[in-house]
Amino acid sequence: MSAKSEAGFETLAIHAGHTPDPMTGSVMPPIYQTSTYVQDGVGEPRGGHEYARVTNPTRTALEENLAALEGGAVGAAFGSGLAAIEATLKAVLEEGDHVVCGSNVYGGTERMFRTVWSRFGLRFTYVDTSDLDALRAAIRPETRLVHIETPTNPMMQISDIAACAEIAHGGGALLTVDNTFPTPFLQRPLDLGADIVVHSTTKYLNGHSDVIGGAVVTGDRELGERIRDQQRISGPVPGPLDCWLVLRGIKTLHVRMTRHCENAGRVAEFLVGHSAARDVLYPGLPTHPQHELARRQMQDFGGMISFDAGSFERARTVAAATRIFQLAESLGGVESLISVPAEMTHASVPEEVREKIGLTNGLVRLSVGIEAADDLIEDLGSALEKI
Ligand SMILES: *Cc1c(COP(=O)(O)O)cnc(C)c1O
Repeated sequence: MSAKSEAGFETLAIHAGHTPDPMTGSVMPPIYQTSTYVQDGVGEPRGGHEYARVTNPTRTALEENLAALEGGAVGAAFGSGLAAIEATLKAVLEEGDHVVCGSNVYGGTERMFRTVWSRFGLRFTYVDTSDLDALRAAIRPETRLVHIETPTNPMMQISDIAACAEIAHGGGALLTVDNTFPTPFLQRPLDLGADIVVHSTTKYLNGHSDVIGGAVVTGDRELGERIRDQQRISGPVPGPLDCWLVLRGIKTLHVRMTRHCENAGRVAEFLVGHSAARDVLYPGLPTHPQHELARRQMQDFGGMISFDAGSFERARTVAAATRIFQLAESLGGVESLISVPAEMTHASVPEEVREKIGLTNGLVRLSVGIEAADDLIEDLGSALEKI
């Protein structure tokens, strides 16, 4: 089925990007495990493909599917979320350009900017982009890109995408939104004025914790082609089996995401009522500082929750005591995970920066899976009893 724009999200998730294979009738797209393609004459590739760093039909199916889900013109799949973010920098920036980046973005994003791209003449400023005045003040004449996440990891702050786009465009910059946490089922940044959406498909899009992958989607075709050029130029592309797995995962995205949100809502409510959990951070709670903005900008509030256990010792005790919530980095899979960001995912972030953004040593982050909510609540409850 071609991705008719009027089709519903759920229909696009299952059908966009591929039709039954014309040769065999296979309903699922084949995994084209090949590096090259035959030519009938010099410069006459039989099937339109020449070399698999440039194009692979399994990858193309995933890319067209992602573009349809984000409401974009061009999708490009990469070998990881960080490779996708790096491709956007290489496609749009030049030496001396300035980037404004959210102060609480994924730790690996900040590390890549600091350890690699600042050596090649790019300049970075970090601001809390939920504060629009702070964003406005950070824009310089040489600012070419604003990179944000909303909700952020692990502080769950929300930034106003439409307002950030207006400020970025006013300063002559593009806006990139890392849409990994909400996925296009809950939030569509391009509809709100963003220029570029990036994803770690490793997380909710694949949803089964068995692939590392990334993607970029743009609303503008010419900009999208510049990003796709990065696949050809340096080849940070995913293999066909990984593309196939992500495409298969996406077919149930809406079903999984609905259940992630339901379960997270119940777990958040439970934590709010528990004396051992303080400062429960979940955009769906009316007490969340940007709850109204989250309601406007998102379809639902996602599957990620953070709370403060009071100290590192207490956080460690809880994280080690759960039985269903597995102690691990990453997020977005069907199974529930628990982590202590200050000692795990955000250990590379200097302590004074962690303090500034409110990331305490006692912070516990949950990726709420799609198991029975009662089991998850019982598991957390008995772990919290231990502190
Ligand atoms: C995991 C993650 C990334 C990095 O993705 P990889 O696939 O691990 O390279 C980027 N942004 C966010 C929000 C993430 O959660």
